[in-house]
Amino acid sequence: MNFEIEPADQAFREEVRAFLREHLPPEMAERTRRGFHFVREDQVAWTRILNKRGWSGQNWPREWGGTGWSPVRQLIFDEECFMAGAPAIDTSGFKMIGPIIMTYGSEALKREFGPRILNADVFWGQGFSEPNAGSDLASLGTTAVRDGDDYVINGRKIWTSYVEQADMIFMLVKTDPAARQRGISMLLVDKNAPGITIRPIIDIGESHSLNEVFFDDVRTPATLLVGEEGKGWTYAKSLLELERAFSGEWPRNKRNLEQLRAMACRERAGGGRLIDSPGFAERLAALEVELQGLEWLTLRALYEKGSNGGLPVGSLLKIRGSELLQRIGEMQVEALGDHAMYFYADPCHAAPEGALPAGPVLGPEYAPGVVTDYMYRRATTIYGGANEVQRTIVARTYLEL
Ligand SMILES: Cc1cc2nc3c(=O)[nH]c(=O)nc-3n(C[C@H](O)[C@H](O)[C@H](O)COP(=O)(O)OP(=O)(O)OC[C@H]3O[C@@H](n4cnc5c(N)ncnc54)[C@H](O)[C@@H]3O)c2cc1C
Repeated sequence: MNFEIEPADQAFREEVRAFLREHLPPEMAERTRRGFHFVREDQVAWTRILNKRGWSGQNWPREWGGTGWSPVRQLIFDEECFMAGAPAIDTSGFKMIGPIIMTYGSEALKREFGPRILNADVFWGQGFSEPNAGSDLASLGTTAVRDGDDYVINGRKIWTSYVEQADMIFMLVKTDPAARQRGISMLLVDKNAPGITIRPIIDIGESHSLNEVFFDDVRTPATLLVGEEGKGWTYAKSLLELERAFSGEWPRNKRNLEQLRAMACRERAGGGRLIDSPGFAERLAALEVELQGLEWLTLRALYEKGSNGGLPVGSLLKIRGSELLQRIGEMQVEALGDHAMYFYADPCHAAPEGALPAGPVLGPEYAPGVVTDYMYRRATTIYGGANEVQRTIVARTYLEL
């Protein structure tokens, strides 16, 4: 298989680079580079800049109003955006619930949400996990009972990322509590509906993106049921496969490794460069080889998309990418040395409008965000489906063990 980028795709890369140079606001890029959790205002503004250019919905086909780009072009676009520091687009909308609505949803849902997602007019939270249902999602306990034209929801979700900034929640509920998988349905709910209470969970990096969500007799119109009642498990499985496929996060890994190399090449306060230490250089080289492996695995998955039968590519990418991300983070913290002791907390919530913190940065200019991001990424081997569970999927479906 030839993984070389075609000349036309290379020209596309140049076009993306030129666009980013001209249209990406520098202060947005700076916030991303410093490892902040996203600021909704940035996501909205950036998605609208892209939409105006016809570049929103990079992973969506043309008939949904997306770009219709090949998977390779999507990867090139993501890579260039990451390297330039562009804010991430709303993955919940574009890569998770959007494709599910457009594939399984009613015509009314498609018409309502397709254009709103493309223009960042609606933001989503993913209400799947519960205190007793994470890896074992089939045992979830939140119920939805049909009452006239509505469903009435009761229960509790946990780890719901960014729901505090969201407008809508897509969630799994039990419509038939007696059944396991066949009793699960997928519903869309207005985040501001009466009966919803959100309790923040502050993470190890002292920032807030996680939440518990309580549903107390919450009503949502039955027209917001996705697809058919009792088919939620099937939709969730294809959504989770999409989620895992981008959990390989090759562009993020590439950017972080380049940052690490730049950090290691700098002269340190006490003299000498980390890159000149043979032990460090050897470990860095090993990571670079693994990154190349991840790139080829990603490209192979993209080229073979649709023709790989039962190959659990999403699980494979998720395991490799998440572990690599954590190891790169560990070496970045090591490269920070004493400066890792300073706490560079996520300042977004102190400055909701997304202003960068005033005052001098302690230590080198690349220091803020490194420790915060390292701590947040401890969860990368858990979210999107714990790696141990992914290994079981690979063993069963690929290795036939
Ligand atoms: C930062 C972060 C963001 C998240 N965002 C969201 C979100 O937006 N929406 C949402 O719905 N959820 C979200 N989650 C939840 C996430 O999907 C779950 O944490 C994950 O699925 C694991 O479930 P659990 O936490 O219940 O762990 P458990 O299922 O209890 O697993 C704990 C550990 O037990 C082991 N284990 C469990 N089952 C098996 C098995 N069958 N075989 C082998 N080992 C096993 C694994 O080691 C696993 O790590 C998020 C989680 C984190 C940490």
